Amino acid sequence: MQTPVFLDHLPDIDAVAGQKPAQYRLERNKALLELMLDQSTVWHDRNACPACDQDTTQNPFFSQTMMEFRRCMNCNSIYAARVPGQTTIDRLRLDHIQARAADAGGDREFEFTSLLNWISLTEARLERKLDRVLDIRFATQAPAWPDATERLSHNRSWDFLELTPESDDFSALEAAVAKAAPKAILMPAELDRVADPAALLSALKAAATPGTVIFVASSCADGLEYEILGADSPSFVPLDRLTVFSVKGFETLSTKLGLQVLEISTPGRLDAVILDRYFKSAENTAIPFWSSFFREADKNRLRDLQILLQRSLKSGVLRFVLET
Ligand SMILES: [Zn+2]
Repeated sequence: MQTPVFLDHLPDIDAVAGQKPAQYRLERNKALLELMLDQSTVWHDRNACPACDQDTTQNPFFSQTMMEFRRCMNCNSIYAARVPGQTTIDRLRLDHIQARAADAGGDREFEFTSLLNWISLTEARLERKLDRVLDIRFATQAPAWPDATERLSHNRSWDFLELTPESDDFSALEAAVAKAAPKAILMPAELDRVADPAALLSALKAAATPGTVIFVASSCADGLEYEILGADSPSFVPLDRLTVFSVKGFETLSTKLGLQVLEISTPGRLDAVILDRYFKSAENTAIPFWSSFFREADKNRLRDLQILLQRSLKSGVLRFVLET
């Protein structure tokens, strides 16, 4: 199994910590609050870790602000102790995407290139032609994405499966995957947002022909940002993070579902920058070692730290390449 390191440039701090991400978090938290106050919302309890099945009563609280989250003692994944139905989650997400349509796209070019490079590099490593790719709902989340594939991805044909108000169970998704019969499936932004990640992965496995390669990404509970800041982490937006898998947790789940794990990486490039910003702005925060580490850090030190995190599979995004 491969564990590649991605040597990307560190982003500009304003891109990470500007007004937009703060506004985004507030909007999502407002939607969650309304959902919690709505008496008609149906919630489903999660009695076990969605990654490794460890009993929820064994797992300590990760957060009790707004929603209850647990951190699995066995695999380190973080998960909401109860989740709304998939239809409700999808509706809120589509509302939110529509409301923000005006300022969507634009500054995500880096992310797009990174995804396309990931597929190209894996294709070369596997020595297998992945010339027909099916995108699962990332085009809904990032409206500029199909245009980016048109401009930047010339050796592949692309299909885009959008999120629709009728997408609630995964049977329509199964039918669409079977019809498209792709060589590869790309799913960079779904796993942490759905009520039942195992059901989504099972649907993909059931519908894809054997030997289909699945590129899946998610936020990563092993990231240094989560380890140090916990639920204060800027990346922790509860409604978008119903499950935050650890590397071990997602590997366990994939294997249990009969998927072969070909490659694991944590290509995050934001951890060092986010922590740097946190420690330089929070005057009263004194965490042994890390406070002075970041206060004295320059760009080179941050970059070295980010490479170290990737090598150790400890940065804030995880990527798996799976085979059905
Ligand atoms: Zn677990």
